[in-house]
Amino acid sequence: MINKQIIAITVAVMLVIVGGLFCFGNTISDTHAQQPQSNESVQSATAPQEAVPAEEPLNVGNGNVYLEQYKYDDSVHQLVLVRQSESSISEATLYLLEKNKYNQWHLIMECPAYIGQNGLDKTKEGDRKTPRGDFSLTHAMGINPDPGSIMTYTVITDTMYVCGDPEYYNQIIDTAYIDHHCGSNSEHLIKYVPQYNYTLYIGYNPQNEYGKGSAILLHCFGSYPYTMGCVAIAEENMIKVLQTVSNGSRICIY
Ligand SMILES: [Zn+2]
Repeated sequence: MINKQIIAITVAVMLVIVGGLFCFGNTISDTHAQQPQSNESVQSATAPQEAVPAEEPLNVGNGNVYLEQYKYDDSVHQLVLVRQSESSISEATLYLLEKNKYNQWHLIMECPAYIGQNGLDKTKEGDRKTPRGDFSLTHAMGINPDPGSIMTYTVITDTMYVCGDPEYYNQIIDTAYIDHHCGSNSEHLIKYVPQYNYTLYIGYNPQNEYGKGSAILLHCFGSYPYTMGCVAIAEENMIKVLQTVSNGSRICIY
């Protein structure tokens, strides 16, 4: 009789312990499942919970693909989206977005932009088209002094070119340091006022394949309501982009 009671009590206690472990385990995994996947969320599972703000609705059309793609990519903190207009092939809207600590995209700026006179889908030098797709931003530079750029900013000097010759095709070179004379297909950067007052070089044709297209930049408005293949925005907006984007940021054109 006593043995049966002891066994019954032991079984009851074990059930309570096992049940408790299950509940505790579920609580942890439920909490974790609701959190964004980041290091901070792992820590906050045991720390007091912070209220996660509601997702901001973003009307960027097909650009949602890029927002999803880079949501949990810790090397990308800002995105520049360039969305072609439905009514004009050389007009677009530029969206500047930044990710918060909950991996939510936040709209910093939205502004009008011009793209290639012949629209998107660049394939070769001189087609007056802007490349479509997802690109790096490789260099911040400008004729004007550094406006407070987050990326390292180079002030353009009289000896800087984007070379159009086979030798240094699609590369920013300084002929003060490289023994090379750039031909007529090259861009003498300091001559592009006001376009290159502030610029970001776009990583199109990263293999520098000759003839595929060169000198694709995000830059300030010029005189025309289109570009030769670049993306142009108002100068004050270009300053804002430079003050926001950091290394790893992407420009997605669609
Ligand atoms: Zn050259």
